[in-house]
Amino acid sequence: MRVTGTAQRDAWLARTFPPVEQLCPDLWSVPVPIPDSPLRYTLTYLVAAGSGLVVVDPGWDTDAGWQALAAGLTAAGASPAAVTGIVVTHIHPDHHGLSARLRDACGGWVAMHPAERDSLSAFRWLDGDARRDDLAWLRDCGVPDDVAAGLAVTDEVLAAVLAMAEPDILLNHGDLVPLPGRRLRAVWTPGHTPGHLCLHEEAGNLLLTGDHVLPRISPNIGLQPHSAEPPLAAYLRSLEVVAAYDQAEALPAHEYRFHGLADRVRMLLAHHERRCEEVIAILARHGPATVWQVTQELSWSRGWASVTGFMRRAAIAEAAAHLRHLADEGRISTAAPGTDGPGRYRLRGATPGGGPVS
Ligand SMILES: [Zn+2]
Repeated sequence: MRVTGTAQRDAWLARTFPPVEQLCPDLWSVPVPIPDSPLRYTLTYLVAAGSGLVVVDPGWDTDAGWQALAAGLTAAGASPAAVTGIVVTHIHPDHHGLSARLRDACGGWVAMHPAERDSLSAFRWLDGDARRDDLAWLRDCGVPDDVAAGLAVTDEVLAAVLAMAEPDILLNHGDLVPLPGRRLRAVWTPGHTPGHLCLHEEAGNLLLTGDHVLPRISPNIGLQPHSAEPPLAAYLRSLEVVAAYDQAEALPAHEYRFHGLADRVRMLLAHHERRCEEVIAILARHGPATVWQVTQELSWSRGWASVTGFMRRAAIAEAAAHLRHLADEGRISTAAPGTDGPGRYRLRGATPGGGPVS
């Protein structure tokens, strides 16, 4: 891997904010701040051609974020009103948060993959039962009631999700973003979310990787209560998809730009295999275990005690995704059906009460 966004990496290491940068004719990166997050900023991309101007991942919806986005547009010789369209790699609030405000300001379109639109719609269908459903899912993972009460979705979170923009345009794998004069093609990379998109800018051979592949951290791959497809298997397949863009410069949504996508993919594949082996070792030690028990025993970069709030919720979803993947691959088993209480996983061939049969 070779870092190409050296000013971004210097800023990352110095814990400052990277500059707005022009990467090639009519393409800029703009850091938009994320409040209270170790990620600190989203790298928003501005892509222009003729009278068209597309914003990819406008960032988190705060006034500071809006000002940073507007400053980036000014640096590019434009303004929010000049934007013709918005593409989001996925609907997480650090990417899609500002889309509604930007669309109001410019009257343009919002585009995303159909599976992201479906995720937004799923929140709408949940209505007032969202918290009850979520508590039931957490209980099924073995999370104690008092802990679950602090982790389940709240009305406030739900309201923020429901305020986010619905799409005007759906982009499927292989579709071109509507930007006449520039070929920006959607590459479907499910895993981090079901409809995550990377975007390939063909003339400059640039791959906007969203959160799918970042140079330093591994994106959260979490099993969600109503996941249609197991996310880890999808993510591993999507990594192979972007490894084919090894000659492209990677333009991620966080951290810094780099070359060497195939190398980075190999590192991420190895990371998930190590994580799977760690889960198996925990089950070997522990005997049958719930998602919650496995979550607490997994290693976390800052230690389990510092994994709190939203991070704790993401950790549970990540452990659940690995357990589900190992069960789907036949490497571990779920407890016999009909068992009361939370679901448990165990090694294949293990006795119901404990360690492996010798
Ligand atoms: Zn993100």
